[in-house]
Parts: sequence; structure tokens; C-alpha cells
Amino acid sequence: MAVITRKLSELFEEFLRTWQDKSGSYKYRERIAQLAATGDKSVVVDYEDIIQFNTDLGERLLSQPDESLREFKMAAFEVLSTENSSYAGQVKNALTVRIRGITDKIPLRKVNTSHLDKMIAVAGMVVRSSELRPLLTDAAFICPNGHVTKLIQEGEVIKRPLKCEGCEEVRNLELDEKRSTFIDSQILRVQELPEELPPGQLPRFFDVDVVGDIVNAARPGDRIVLSGVVRAVLDITPGQARTRVFRSKIDSNLIEVAGKDPGQIQITKEDEFLIRSVAANPDAYQRLIRSVAPAILGHEAVKEAILLLLVGGPQTVLPDGTKLRGDINVFIVGDPGVAKSEMLKFAAQVAPRGMFASGKGSTAAGLSAAVIREKNTFMLEAGVVVLADQGIACIDEFDKMKEDDRSALHEQMEQQTITIAKGGIYATLNARTSILAAANPIFGKYDPYKNLTDNITLPIPLLTRFDLIFVVKDTPTPAQDEKLATHILDVHRKRGYTDPPPVQFDLMKKYITYAKKISPTITIEAQNRMKEYYLQLRRSVAEGQIGATPRTLESLIRLSSAKARLMLRDLVLEEDALTAISLMNRMVEDVLTDTETKTKADFGILLGQPAGERGKLSTSMDIFRTMEGAEKKPVELKLFRDELVKSGRFKGDDEIDKMIQKLIKEGIIWENKPGFYRRVQA
Ligand code: ADP
Ligand code: MG
Repeated sequence: MAVITRKLSELFEEFLRTWQDKSGSYKYRERIAQLAATGDKSVVVDYEDIIQFNTDLGERLLSQPDESLREFKMAAFEVLSTENSSYAGQVKNALTVRIRGITDKIPLRKVNTSHLDKMIAVAGMVVRSSELRPLLTDAAFICPNGHVTKLIQEGEVIKRPLKCEGCEEVRNLELDEKRSTFIDSQILRVQELPEELPPGQLPRFFDVDVVGDIVNAARPGDRIVLSGVVRAVLDITPGQARTRVFRSKIDSNLIEVAGKDPGQIQITKEDEFLIRSVAANPDAYQRLIRSVAPAILGHEAVKEAILLLLVGGPQTVLPDGTKLRGDINVFIVGDPGVAKSEMLKFAAQVAPRGMFASGKGSTAAGLSAAVIREKNTFMLEAGVVVLADQGIACIDEFDKMKEDDRSALHEQMEQQTITIAKGGIYATLNARTSILAAANPIFGKYDPYKNLTDNITLPIPLLTRFDLIFVVKDTPTPAQDEKLATHILDVHRKRGYTDPPPVQFDLMKKYITYAKKISPTITIEAQNRMKEYYLQLRRSVAEGQIGATPRTLESLIRLSSAKARLMLRDLVLEEDALTAISLMNRMVEDVLTDTETKTKADFGILLGQPAGERGKLSTSMDIFRTMEGAEKKPVELKLFRDELVKSGRFKGDDEIDKMIQKLIKEGIIWENKPGFYRRVQA
């Protein structure tokens, strides 16, 4: 232990008064002088400065933080008293010195009993936050004779004075809340960063006490660096014997929300050279596609879409502050065993801030967010989509997600936020997350004679939020089967890739991080291409059919910008627009062609209203109207049904029953008397 011979508070005061930064200004004196103007109660001190001022003092601060911070606070109070004595008097108790930038961050996983009562810095992700609660700091006790005794509070439980200061009363001292002083407090749960988590391990977490003006500094989903003191606390359960096992927590001193930098991936000059040389290759794009999930054979179009999703387009902020999302959302529907899950897992690993989850969800928060109750405190817990903010969330079994998550995702996929209002907590959390989702068809296998919405169970409006939707069918052909069998067996025999990826995993990760920093501008040629394609989609709209919407155009912009980023270009060229168009075309063929009428680019399918269906609906209503006649008399359902059969528009009884159900369910017709129906008048 370093020897410090002077009084700590004097040393700290000298530091605060005399420390000058490079420009020669008195950094801390000025900071303290400004407190009154901003109404702040914390003095933030850079650890580096203390170390430079006096190394021993810096070390003492970490090894004996309680005493040191107390002395530091007294020193700050002295300085504040000189600068502004009235404000000093006002904030005396709340004044706090906060230490920023402690060198040697300790991984959360490595925090142990050797750190107890020491000050450390850790990086982590906020997964939960509690509501604000008043914490008693200066308790006032009142005796039956009306005397008030004050007692400063520390620790977990309320300390009581031994006797009344006024009359020596020992027993009947009541806490008087009105005369006591409280401070804001909050509990955060901070979890290990996903990229620091060793594979196959459960993430570690700490509960962090936040007190004073740093409450609400961080929200669930935020990545933070915090300075704080590690504590062991006894869990007190009334009526139970005390155990020897304590719980650990961190008393936070300072919380900093990490910057916008995606992931913690460092890119060196050498990496940059490698990245540039990949991009310089004439078939760079194909090589990058081949490096996505290299253990999986085929599925080039899906891999291409995943690649574009990994880098995404840049977010555009309009002058009025409106934000247009750059994140790309992709949905893969496919037969079981076609490597959907494998591709999702790869994407989650290679993406900076990637997370993998199943729609079934395991935590209370599920995919979005939830309010949970623990020991009488309401806690807001972030789910996967919030935790993967500024990254990607790969959601498998997308069709099996919970009802709450569905409605939350609805908001997230367009607005990029998740709002929750429950148990007195109302919060909007950032979720600027790309969604890569996969689902199996309802009947096990995708039925090519049915439209997408009849093959999966998904709330319909969610589908319109996806930029690209793919259907992956497992159609056996001897040649394909041969190839896949050989491929899979080879991978197992050689215990490695049959065809090594042109870009290795680690470089791929860096490549993506690097490409994401580019913000390309759309050239007029690219713009014309996209416009032409969009207008052509709009023109091909048949009577009664729902066509492309401006959403489609925005998808094209995102996809082509992502392609330009991948090529490390500042400009979105015509060829990038063509890439986006060809992917969109594939979706038009796969998903947006009505299986019945064969109309192409039928965007009504995503709304569960393909042209065929709409045609049948209007036929049914025409029949109903004719049967009502001018006098609008109720129509007998049995007869209506017979007429529908006669119309020849329906394939079988099932379809007719479905249509009648739909008319009733959507309130288009209603039962007027048993067996008789009327039309709802507009
Ligand atoms: P899904 O999620 O589509 O049901 P999985 O991702 O679980 O399918 O894949 C099942 C298994 O089959 C995985 O081990 C995967 O590696 C293998 N597999 C399926 N298709 C391919 C392919 N095209 N190339 C290599 N392996 C494949
Ligand atoms: Mg699967």
C-alpha cells in the first residue's frame, strides 16, 4: 500500500484547486463553479488526471473507495464553498464526486470476492431497470414529546437512534417521513456483453444500485461502462436464519452510456488493408455471398439477402428530424431441415451486436420488453430486440412468438422503438434492430398451391414490414439430393468446410463493421432504375388488386445502399439498384404471385387479400345484394350458400364456409334472426 502522509481531504482539495489541463485552464475549479448554473450536484473527475497528479492517491481511491470518496466530497464541498457558498449550502448532502475512465476495466465475469469494497470499472449491458424509489438518507425520528432526532442513514436497513436527543426517550421513537430527507434510487441489472460471453456459458449479471442524479442515466438495452464499489450484502428474509452466503451487488458511482460505435470490434490498419483487398476483387460480391454460412450448400439468394441485412442501409435523418430506417428485415419461410436455423445462427454470430432467439422465448421479457415484479418493485426488463439495438436480432420460430411480442414488433419494425406501459412504468426503448426471422409452414411443408398467408400463421400486418421474404422449399431431385448428401457427409468426414469460404469468419466480422460506417449517396442512374421498376410494379396492378406501396420503394433504397456499402463505395450505382431489383423480383415470383389467379406483384397477399380472394369477396357480396333485392330483406344463409355453390367461383365446401365465416367475422353481414342475415349498411 502506498504511503500517503498528508490528510486525504487536503490532497484532494489541492488537486481540485490546482489541476490544469493542457490548455492551462483550471479544469475542476471551473467545473465546480458551473454547478450552480446547471443545477448539477455531481463533480465528474477523470481518473487519468488523479493518477497524473499523484499515483498513490489514485491507487488509494480504488483500494479504499469509501473513505476516499467521502474525503473527496468534503474537498469538493470546500472548493464549492469558495466558488459559490449559497449553492454549496443547498447541495451539501447531495454533492457527489464521480470517477470517470478508470483504467483496467474488469470483465464482468472476472469480478469476485477479491474486489469486495474496492472500486472497479466494468462494461456491460443494462437488461433491467426498476422504477425510481425514494431512498432514505437523513432520517428524522420523533418522540411522544415532539422532539426530533436526526440520523444519517447508510446500509440496507434503517438505523434507529439509541435515544431521543431532547428527552432521553428510548422506546417510542417514530420515523417522521415528512421531516426526513430522501434521494432518488433505482436498481439496474447489468449483464455481460454478448460478445464477451464464452460460448455455451450463461451470461453473468450484477444488480447495481444507482443513487442520486445518475438515476435514469441508462435504460434497458443500453451498453454502459460503470465505475462502482463491489459489495456483499445479506439477503434478509424475516423469520429465517441468516445464511453464510451473501449476494453481491455494485454501488454505482458513475454510469456512462457507450457511444454509437457498433460492437467492440477493433479494426487495425492491417485489417483495413485486408478488407480493401477483398473489396478490390472483381467478383468481391460473389465471394462475400459465398462466405455467409459457408457450411451450408446452396441457398445463394437467401445468403445474399442475409449479407445485405448484415450491413444494412444508412439511417436517413430529414431536416425536420424524421428518421427513415436503414435497417433491413428479412423473413425466411421454409420446409423443415433446410438449414434455416443454421443460417440464422451464423448471422447472429458474425454480426456486430447480433443476437439469436427463438420466438417461443424463455425469459419474461421475451423478444420485446416486459414489466416484472420482484420483491415489490416493478422492473422493466428488455428482451432480445431491445438488447440487439443497433445490431441484428435473429428470431427463429417466428410464428410461435407470444401475443405481446407480436404487437411490440409491429411497432419496432417500422418505428424502431418499443413502448411499454404497465405497472406504472411507461417507457420507450430504442430498438434500432434488423430482424432476420425464420418460420416453418403450418402443415409441416410449404404448400405451393396456397398463398403465403395460408401457409403460415402470422399476424398479417407484420409481413408488410419485411423488405424481403423468401420461401425455401425442399423439393427432392436426385441430382440435388446427391450433391447435398455428399456435401454434408464430406463436412463431417473432413471436419471442416468442403469449400473454404473466400473470406474467413473473423475478417468477415470486421468487414461488416467497417462497411457499416459508410453512408453512400444515391446516383441519378440508380434512382432512375428504381423509379422505373417501382412504376412498372404499380402499372401492372389489376382491377381489385393491391399493388406495391412506397414501402417497396424504400426497401429498394435500403437494399441498394447496403450493396454499395458492401462494395465500400460512397455512391449507390445502377448495378446496386439492379441487385436490389433482382432480389425484389425473386420475392415477387416466390411470394407475391397469387397462386389462384397467377397475378404477379400482388402485394395484397401480404395483407391476406390476394386478388383471387378479393374477387371472390366481391362476387359473394354481389350475390348477397341481388338476394336482398331493393327492399333489403334478410337473406337466408342456406339459400345464400346454395347461390355461392352455383356461382362456380369456389373450389369446394371448405372454401365457401371460410368465406361465410369471414363475412360474419369481419362484420360485413350479421345475423338478424336465426338463420337469416343482413348486410351492414355503410
Ligand atoms: P431448419 O431450421 O430449416 O429446420 P436446420 O437449420 O435445423 O433446419 O438444419 C438441419 C440440419 O441439416 C443442419 O444440421 C444443417 O446443417 C443440415 N442442412 C440442411 N440443409 C443443408 C445444406 N443445404 N447444406 C448443408 N447442411 C444442410
Ligand atoms: Mg429450425
